[in-house]
Amino acid sequence: MTSLTLDPSHARAAAPALAPNLGGMTRAELTATLLDGGLVEDGKARMRTGQLWRWIHLAGVTDFARMTNVSKALQVQLAERFTIARPEVVERQVSKDGTRKWLIRTAPGIEIETVYIPDVGRAGALCVSSQVGCTLNCTFCHTGTQPLVRNLTAAEIIAQVQVAKDDLEEWGGPEGEDRRLSNIVFMGMGEPLYNLKNVADAIEVISDNEGIAISRRRITVSTSGVVPELKALGETTQAMLAISLHATNDALRDVLVPLNRKYPIAQLMAGIRAYPGLSNARRVTFEYVMLKGINDSPAEARALVQLLKGIPAKINLIPFNPWPGSPYECSSWSTIESFAAILNRAGYASPIRTPRGRDILAACGQLKSESEKVRASVRRKLEAAE
Ligand code: SAH
Ligand code: SF4
Repeated sequence: MTSLTLDPSHARAAAPALAPNLGGMTRAELTATLLDGGLVEDGKARMRTGQLWRWIHLAGVTDFARMTNVSKALQVQLAERFTIARPEVVERQVSKDGTRKWLIRTAPGIEIETVYIPDVGRAGALCVSSQVGCTLNCTFCHTGTQPLVRNLTAAEIIAQVQVAKDDLEEWGGPEGEDRRLSNIVFMGMGEPLYNLKNVADAIEVISDNEGIAISRRRITVSTSGVVPELKALGETTQAMLAISLHATNDALRDVLVPLNRKYPIAQLMAGIRAYPGLSNARRVTFEYVMLKGINDSPAEARALVQLLKGIPAKINLIPFNPWPGSPYECSSWSTIESFAAILNRAGYASPIRTPRGRDILAACGQLKSESEKVRASVRRKLEAAE
């Protein structure tokens, strides 16, 4: 493992706390901001938005002075009122398997973990966080031991992608299949469906064809099962759905994923069946963490197959990733293989997910930043001081 802190010039580039970041806005917000600020005439708003958009989201510039087709006068006006700088990257780690993890500080007390997982070939997925901490306390998850600090803004979600693209040196880079950052998964810290508006706005920006252009079919949102929000997720984002199932009966799922007491398995499955746009080409991914002696018997594999009957589904068996003080152990390799064989026979191909980045605690469910709740009054003081 190599661990290093980025060049301090990055820290100097950090945004003044209160200047709005144009790089974290949707197109509509960007246009409205330009119009409200009297920076553009009505008739030119669309053109000007497109111009700025391509500099920010296609070229990845972090300095208005590089926008060569924007007049000097406008560059200066923009720089006086807004920023397009990145947040501070507090720490960067690279695993021996190529996984990269960044700790990004967007505001006092707000530290976000983001992980890039290289796949075979050039492709790779960026695992982004939607909240700092989580309210849901799943018993096998490290994030669940951290109190919710707050929802991330759309800008903070987008910033994770921007930081990764800076580090992978991929701005304006190769299109489509040949990209290193080819997929986005909302599988970092937090429950994305408790922050749906900001997640949806971030997806709108990240998938925009004139910018980062990651197709919505390559963006997956993982949820522990917030059933009432599933339909809205599908309708507003057209993202791929992943469900953290982990158990096939309510008694066990109530313990592993306490949200199950509110939305039990039958309700969850009904919500999934109604997910907009499901088809064999757009399957739901079911995540199932392998916990020794808890949920890993052959009978449970068969129950899983029964439960998913009739749903266009993929299954991801996740070997449990331990963290300091975790109450479970990972199933043995032979148990995982027997479990997978039952799924294979039922037609689910290669369901075992290889753990990545374990040496830098970057694997699923291991993220837990040191951010702790700061009382709102203290936070306001800190922000004012900045
Ligand atoms: N809150 C969302 C998304 C973040 S968690 C959700 O729960 O789906 C992303 C995935 O990692 C989920 O499937 C989660 O159940 C799984 N996970 C959490 N802790 C884990 C651990 N210690 N080992 C393996 N997978 C874990
Ligand atoms: Fe929250 Fe997901 Fe972890 Fe559960 S598994 S505590 S929902 S981040």
